[in-house]
Amino acid sequence: MSKADYYDVLGVSREATEDEIKKAYRQLAFKYHPDRNPGDPESEAKFKEAAEAYEVLRDPQKRARFDRFGHQGLGDTGFGGFSNAEDIFSTFSDIFGEFFGFAGAGARGRGPRPQPGSDLRYDLRVSFRDAAKGTEVNLKIPKHVPCPDCEGTGAAPGTKPETCRQCGGMGQVHQSQGFFRIAVACPVCRGEGTVVASPCPRCKGRALLQDVRELKVRIPAGVDDGSRLRLRGEGEPGMHGGPPGDLYVVVYVEEDKTFRRQGQDLVVTLDIGMVQASLGDKIKVPTLEGEETMDIPKGTQSGEVFSLRGMGLPHPGRNQRGDLLVEVIVHTPKNLSKKQEELLREFLELENGKPLNKVKDFFKKAKDKAMGS
Ligand SMILES: [Zn+2]
Ligand SMILES: [Zn+2]
Repeated sequence: MSKADYYDVLGVSREATEDEIKKAYRQLAFKYHPDRNPGDPESEAKFKEAAEAYEVLRDPQKRARFDRFGHQGLGDTGFGGFSNAEDIFSTFSDIFGEFFGFAGAGARGRGPRPQPGSDLRYDLRVSFRDAAKGTEVNLKIPKHVPCPDCEGTGAAPGTKPETCRQCGGMGQVHQSQGFFRIAVACPVCRGEGTVVASPCPRCKGRALLQDVRELKVRIPAGVDDGSRLRLRGEGEPGMHGGPPGDLYVVVYVEEDKTFRRQGQDLVVTLDIGMVQASLGDKIKVPTLEGEETMDIPKGTQSGEVFSLRGMGLPHPGRNQRGDLLVEVIVHTPKNLSKKQEELLREFLELENGKPLNKVKDFFKKAKDKAMGS
């Protein structure tokens, strides 16, 4: 064990105050901490030396004995060295706990730490069209509110919560765990720092009441399935001056019989007749707003897609809309009347009796597409 002068070890004068000693030790402990100097025996020795010096000088009785008698004065009843590493780290975590706040009631003053409220989640189903156009909904959110009778203290009206005797109002007690002494919530006051002798009858001392809050929420137009809307501060209330949590509204958009969604575009599929497709026609297309008339050209093929610009879904928060994509499927008639059949046979004869019977050329189709035709 080192016999260097403890004041020299910490680099402080013999008149140093408790704070100066603490500060000097903190700097040395930080500098020589084994975590920062792995496998360096010299740092380790300095770290131990500093801890030993601090362990004596922090204690007014030991310090007085050391001042008068030096190392001898500590003898068997005095410092006598650390019995194991745990003691060094206990000294270390004590002081660092205070500085860094993990055991930190002392650094903050008395009473428990402010606790932010929990976030809440609300699952909301909306119809396809409400989501497309935007809507306003009234939500009933089950959440806690501070009890009005006791003003959120939990103490019966006319009384006050009392300082917890177990932890002296700190809300925390210390426990040894392995190498460290850690701060845990006080078991008596459960970290509150106060105990309620006569609980408020209305909330039974819980300080909070279950309530249902009504909230008007705007669902922006064009919102997608699974979107999360965040409403700041609408979650559970915070405790001990902590901020409230947030409310997340998760939007589930129902499917629609007419429209499908493709990004901000809407897709609608229409059946048209063979003759309409051949001759061209004006057809009515359902839109979000109602109905629109659209021209289909002569010789329209089954599966062709036409787009109505700007008639899709709004981009939330942008003054812009996707397109309405109209897919047409050409239907072959199944139950022809005699007259219709006669006309079609005549039509066939006009094609010189050579019905279409050709193997499809996939390469040609791909090439056409690539050329944009
Ligand atoms: Zn109450
Ligand atoms: Zn307590």
